[in-house]
Amino acid sequence: MDTPIGNSIESLRTFFVENVSKFCDKCGTAYKPDNIDIVSESNASVIIQAQCDNCKGIYMAHVIKPLQMTKKIPIRLDIAHTLLHPYYLLGPISSDELLALRKKLAKIKTREEFLKLTTN
Ligand SMILES: [Zn+2]
Repeated sequence: MDTPIGNSIESLRTFFVENVSKFCDKCGTAYKPDNIDIVSESNASVIIQAQCDNCKGIYMAHVIKPLQMTKKIPIRLDIAHTLLHPYYLLGPISSDELLALRKKLAKIKTREEFLKLTTN
C-alpha cells in the first residue's frame, strides 16, 4: 500500500485497482478504468466508486489519504452513478428543506402543478 495518491483521476483509478479491488465482489469481472469514478475528494480523503460492467453492482471505497486506509463496501443506488456526484455536492438535506418540500407537495392538486414544482 505504498502507492502515492495524487489528485488525478487516473492515479486514483490506478490506486483503486492496485490497492482496493481489481474485481467485482459479486461476479468477479475485472474493473476497467471507465468503471471507476471519483465521487468526492478533499485534502484528507477521497470517495471512489466502481460499477461492474457485467452485473452493474456498485461499490464505494473511502480512502483516507495520509494513512491510505481503505474500506470497500457494496452499495445499492437507485440513481445513475453519474448523478451521484452532483447530489453529493449538495450535501445533506436539512429537516427545514424536507418540511418546506412537504408543504409544497401537500398543496399539489394536478400533474401540471407537480411538474412545475419538480422542474423549477
Ligand atoms: Zn459484477
